[in-house]
Parts: sequence; structure tokens; C-alpha cells
Amino acid sequence: MLGEAEHVWERILSDAEKDELQSSYKGALTEPEYFPIPDLSIYKKYSFFTTKLAEIVRGCPHNCRFCGATMYSGRKYRYKKLENLVKEIENWDNSGKIAHFTNTNLIASPKKTREIMNRLRDFNLKWWSPCSVDILDHEDLIKSVAEAGCMVLQFGFDSLSKETLKSMNKQFNIRRDYRTLIKKCHDYGIEVSGSFIFGWDTDTKDVFKDTVEFSKDADIDFPVYFPLTPFPGTDIYNTYLSQGRILTNDWSKYNWNTCVYRPKNMSGEELLNGCYYAFEESYSTRSIFHRLFSRPRGFKEIMLLLFISASGKFVKRFSKPYWLGTKNALSSS
Ligand code: SF4
Repeated sequence: MLGEAEHVWERILSDAEKDELQSSYKGALTEPEYFPIPDLSIYKKYSFFTTKLAEIVRGCPHNCRFCGATMYSGRKYRYKKLENLVKEIENWDNSGKIAHFTNTNLIASPKKTREIMNRLRDFNLKWWSPCSVDILDHEDLIKSVAEAGCMVLQFGFDSLSKETLKSMNKQFNIRRDYRTLIKKCHDYGIEVSGSFIFGWDTDTKDVFKDTVEFSKDADIDFPVYFPLTPFPGTDIYNTYLSQGRILTNDWSKYNWNTCVYRPKNMSGEELLNGCYYAFEESYSTRSIFHRLFSRPRGFKEIMLLLFISASGKFVKRFSKPYWLGTKNALSSS
């Protein structure tokens, strides 16, 4: 199944029933009025961190060279109809669990997001969502996102280097100061998750230590680090392919745990070890305590911080066999 499923899902099910499944199906961008309201009651609610999941918007107007999300959801943003979103939220259980808005970018259209935040305020929810750093240009929006119950915003900071951001086609990040953004979110009681991607051609071996120090110094609550994964169809994949630097077409290896291309200034093994080092430093007990006491938090915020820090420790442990040693650094010779 390639792309969005709504237009072809019924056909896939019907073909499966007739034992006539095709080798692949291609979806098309779905119009917002056809975004389905999923039946979340099929999930056992105590088996998951949360089953309160909803999409507010699909698509993102930016065009980052490594982004796989815009490959299937496009660059034109499409907001779910407000009345459908409201119906969906009204169906949620009242377990008090934190909700996750699985958007590509929460503020694809600041105007539309404002309207939705005003409505969300009525629900007394606690939630988190991915968002782009342009929200810094709209302080009123940070405030209304907080008033609508946002506990965590996830930002793709991706790099601290202007040169790297430029080559990622992520100039919009250069114009926004990460420290100011983090501080503003904290001022409104929003925790910040910040992700970084290592292994870009402009990255040297210093990138790991510099980024970890920045995460600590700038008080990022949940820093996460990944090796660059050039997903098929993205501009960076095509560039590396034309340069003969893609090491495998086994898509199961495109899992954020394997170095699937030949980095320029380090070996694949060094890249994976660097990712592990960054996680290890940021999720050491000392670093977690540092974050815990970095500023006053309410009970829910403390529990969330401890839970996510424990998840960070889990990711570290899970990724250790992949990132330490050479297991998943494919041969680049
Ligand atoms: S801002 Fe995020 S979602 Fe949008 S194109 Fe860049 S990486 Fe993708």
C-alpha cells in the first residue's frame, strides 16, 4: 500500500476476501471530509501508553530533503473538519491518559490551528503533538496551544549548524532561535521534545558531543537523536543514490537503527556509536535528575518527565546492540 489508504482500503479488503490481492496498491491524497473517524475501542486501553490518538492535520508546507512524511501526505496541508475532530474526541474514553495528535505539523496553518485550539479548550485534555519551529513567530499561538491542554511539543531541530540546516533545505529553522523557543514553551508550561539527525555531509565527529551539550544547556526536556535515514523517494535518497552511496535496498534496514548509506566524515559504525553516546549521555540518571530539578513542575508534568525519561532509557538499551559495534553499520568499502 503506497500513500494514503482511504481511497483503496475497501478494495484491498475485498481483494483479500477473494484471495486476489495485488502485489501493491497506490493510494491518493484524501480530501479532509473523508478523513475517517477511527474505532479506537478495538484497542485494549490498558495495553498502551495511550489510545487517545487523533489527526488534526495532514501534510506540511515545508520541504526538508530527508522528510518521508511529505512523501505520502504531501506538502499541501489538509485539516480534519472541526466537527469530525470534536466527534472523535467525544468518543474517547475518560481514562485521563494523555492524548497524542499524530500530525505532521500542528501549525501548518496558524490561522486554522488557532480556531481548533479555541475549540479544544472545552475538553480539558492533556496532549502532545509534533510542531515546526515557526510557532516562535506566533507567541499568541504558543499560549493558545498551552491553554488547549498541550503538555509537550515535539520539534525537529535536526541540527545546530546553519550549513547543515541549509543543506537539509531547512532554512526556516535557521531563522528561529532554539533557546528562545524552548524558553517560551517552558514559560507557558509546555515541555519540549527536540530531535536531532546525525550523519549529514557537513557533520564531523564533534557533532555528537556539541549537540548533547546544547540539549542540556538549553534545557530540552526530551532530546532524541537518530542516524540519518535517507528514505526512498526523498531528495537525499536520490542524491546519495546518484553518488553511489546507498548501501542497501533492503527496506527493513531503513529503521533508524542502521546506517544504510556511506557517511562523508565518519564511518557508519562511528555514526551509530555517536547516536548511542548521545542517548547514553542525555538519559543517564544524572541528566534525568538535572532535568527534573531544572524548573518547577506540577505532579502530572513530573510523572510525564519520569515516564518519557524511562522510555529514553529503554530506547538506549534497545538500541545498544544495534548502535554499539558494527552489527548494523553495513559495509561501506
Ligand atoms: S517540517 Fe517536519 S514534517 Fe515538515 S517537511 Fe520538514 S521534517 Fe517534514
